[in-house]
Amino acid sequence: MFLETKNLTKKFGGLVAVNDVDFSIEKGKINAIIGPNGAGKSTFFNLISGFHPPSSGQVIFKGKDITRLPSNKIAELGVARTFQTTNLFDQATVLDNVIVGHRLRTKSNLVDAIFRTKRLKAEEKQCREKAIEVLEFVGLTSAAYKLAGSMSQEEKKRVAFALALATDPEIVFLDEPAAGVNPDETEGLAALMEKMVSAGITVCLIEHKMQMIMKLADKIMVLNYGEKIAEGTPKEIRNNEMVIKAYLGG
Ligand code: ADP
Ligand code: MG
Repeated sequence: MFLETKNLTKKFGGLVAVNDVDFSIEKGKINAIIGPNGAGKSTFFNLISGFHPPSSGQVIFKGKDITRLPSNKIAELGVARTFQTTNLFDQATVLDNVIVGHRLRTKSNLVDAIFRTKRLKAEEKQCREKAIEVLEFVGLTSAAYKLAGSMSQEEKKRVAFALALATDPEIVFLDEPAAGVNPDETEGLAALMEKMVSAGITVCLIEHKMQMIMKLADKIMVLNYGEKIAEGTPKEIRNNEMVIKAYLGG
């Protein structure tokens, strides 16, 4: 399996936010995680991407145990993620936001930074080229020199994708990539996720927009109170009694 979690569990004090979750992701597919607010979806992403250590369980990526690796190491291995809210520097350009976001993940140390070593300059050039490349991929070339603060919600979502793509990931975890955007824009973002898959990147997303998920996803996992209550194709999920009760509300 490309990426899998085994018995993944996260407790915050007495609260079990993610409870014993086994999930496997096939390469080249679009995977979706759905579930009510507070179900543990974002926490699940935080465990996979190394932002929180799990209480127990494992994350295996391409056969390697990546549980408890620091988040930058996990990113280096090819696992990227976006956040539910995209924090950008509003007063900087979109391009600079992507360059800075990317630089935070590269390797120059303080000595390089102070003495502006050759390595640093080469890295700066590489980061800039990469930022221009990923902005083109997400359809923001013409917005590159606009201030991030002037971007629409949908454009900010595209910037978040660009930030994730700048690390050359093999798999991206997208936390509510279409939240707060209109139906037309949602279709555009869905097309962008399909474009990622065409470029060889495996996608896993958290989303509430059921219509989009049912069209887009190859496989869906449903979380409720931290537990996996169902898993399957969109058709299987749509017809699952437990899912209908817990989530689809009827
Ligand atoms: P979802 O993304 O499905 O809406 P979350 O993963 O954000 O849910 O949250 C799951 C549960 O874990 C919630 O009850 C939330 O309050 C709790 N939780 C999330 N992060 C933390 C944290 N850092 N500390 C304490 N509790 C948290
Ligand atoms: Mg969340």
